[in-house]
Amino acid sequence: MQLLWLPAFLLFCTGLALLWLARRRRQASGLPNGAVIYSDTGAEQSVAAPLISRRHGLIGKPDYLIEARQGTARTMIPVEVKSRSRPGKLPFGHILQLATYCLIIEEIYGVAPSHGILRYADGSYTIAYTAELRRAVLEAAEGIRAVRSASDVPRSHQDALRCDHCGYRPGCGQQAL
Ligand code: SF4
Repeated sequence: MQLLWLPAFLLFCTGLALLWLARRRRQASGLPNGAVIYSDTGAEQSVAAPLISRRHGLIGKPDYLIEARQGTARTMIPVEVKSRSRPGKLPFGHILQLATYCLIIEEIYGVAPSHGILRYADGSYTIAYTAELRRAVLEAAEGIRAVRSASDVPRSHQDALRCDHCGYRPGCGQQAL
């Protein structure tokens, strides 16, 4: 009779352990607190639809989009996961990619993210979504549109490794050596 409380106690302990495990997993993933409202990590059965900014003609698929709430304030945080370790300096291309997601999210949800997160194998980095970065995204998009209609586009980098892994290398003629 006295042992009737035992199953309930064990259930309670299991619940606590599961909660702790879920929290540990979340911390290990580097994701901020909040609800995951979008994910394109390939872990799901269905393929995530891309996020689109019709106004700026931009399209993107962040690895995660987190909806975080502070009181009544709501903010969206895009998270981009890179499997490699962080190179010496944060590549501006990665920052621009994250800021592009911020711009798209701003249009879709009507609220500009305050920041996004770049997650590398060895750490996460918070990138503030500033007016300057927003401008850089728009300028880059404009630049891409301009070169699309150009007949000849010079190589914009000296990254031989990037060329080694590029699918256009066989017909490129400009690959870095
Ligand atoms: S091979 Fe050509 S297209 Fe590919 S990354 Fe290098 S320069 Fe660019």
